[in-house]
Amino acid sequence: MHADDLKIVWLCYECGRRFAFNSDVENHKRQYKHSKMKLCNLRANGVSLPPWFTRGRMSLGFSLNGKMSRIIVEYEYFPSSGAINYVDVRYTDSKLESTVEDDSEMMRNIDNYLRKLLTQNMFARP
Ligand SMILES: [Zn+2]
Repeated sequence: MHADDLKIVWLCYECGRRFAFNSDVENHKRQYKHSKMKLCNLRANGVSLPPWFTRGRMSLGFSLNGKMSRIIVEYEYFPSSGAINYVDVRYTDSKLESTVEDDSEMMRNIDNYLRKLLTQNMFARP
């Protein structure tokens, strides 16, 4: 791969992801049903792109049957659209896993909580 290959990227307007290769764009369109793509030339001056995504990990504690269990969430956050992509979700306890995954309300709460944290962090930045 030549370094110049990375100077031109496709930007997804719907989630803020960038792609260096057309094949990735096609995969993304199929997978996420996002169709609005823009080709950007990073060499051009004055081109203002939304921030690249941030990747992070968060740990949430739950008390289950008097025992402390945790959910560890690895995520990618796209500030331009507010989208959160869950890369990996792990549970320290299989009971907690089945409790959470059977409870869509709880899943939504976790999603909201993470979203709120990320939004606050974005605003806190100088
Ligand atoms: Zn997209």
